[in-house]
Amino acid sequence: MTAYDPNNIFAKILRGELPAHRVYEDDRALAFLDIMPRAPGHTLVIPKNPARNILDIDADDLGYVATIAQRIARAQMQAFGADGITVQQFNESAGGQVVFHLHVHVIPRHDGVAMKP
Ligand code: 5GP
Repeated sequence: MTAYDPNNIFAKILRGELPAHRVYEDDRALAFLDIMPRAPGHTLVIPKNPARNILDIDADDLGYVATIAQRIARAQMQAFGADGITVQQFNESAGGQVVFHLHVHVIPRHDGVAMKP
């Protein structure tokens, strides 16, 4: 597998070199709004430790990111009056990954409303 690239977009967001609308942050994880939301409130959760994707990440960090994704999902149900939440995570180009720092998409959903492509 290709090595982690410390100049990927999300690494730059973590270092404060690129702006992002941050919705949650602690010493291990960051959550921020997706720049091209597939539905209002579409949020990305990332670990602070470098990890290219699920094939690369330390299991403890993966568990922590999942815990924060759950916290974001529960908050979105309230904040957006959502009927459900879509959680997605892509790995390597063949798996649909575009930015190579592990991220979990957390997307509020409403009955009868399709996600944008
Ligand atoms: P994936 O790698 O999971 O296929 O998709 C990467 C996601 O990152 C996309 O949903 C895209 O809109 C989002 N994204 C790409 N560049 C930026 C950026 O500079 N800022 C933010 N907030 N999101 C981004």
